[in-house]
Amino acid sequence: MTTRSLAQPDRCARKWCEEAGEHEVHRQYLTAFRTTEGRSIGVNVVQVGDQPQAVELTMLPRRGRDLSIVFQVANAEAIARGMRAGARRAGQ
Ligand SMILES: [Zn+2]
Repeated sequence: MTTRSLAQPDRCARKWCEEAGEHEVHRQYLTAFRTTEGRSIGVNVVQVGDQPQAVELTMLPRRGRDLSIVFQVANAEAIARGMRAGARRAGQ
């Protein structure tokens, strides 16, 4: 019988985190979609160290660097409400 840990060495201790290897920002990838301009936008849950979890939007431009914006939960909720209101109005 073995006492060896079953934990995989490159798996994060936070079970929800999908980052592998050594990392400072814990991240769970929720969804990604493509804008009408052809840019990919990802939505992730992130946590830096022991700070509260936050919501991250990552835009992957066709060229150049990625752009990431991290929102605290309350701000992410406000943006979601604003986006839903915009979508309703634009869909009329
Ligand atoms: Zn992690």
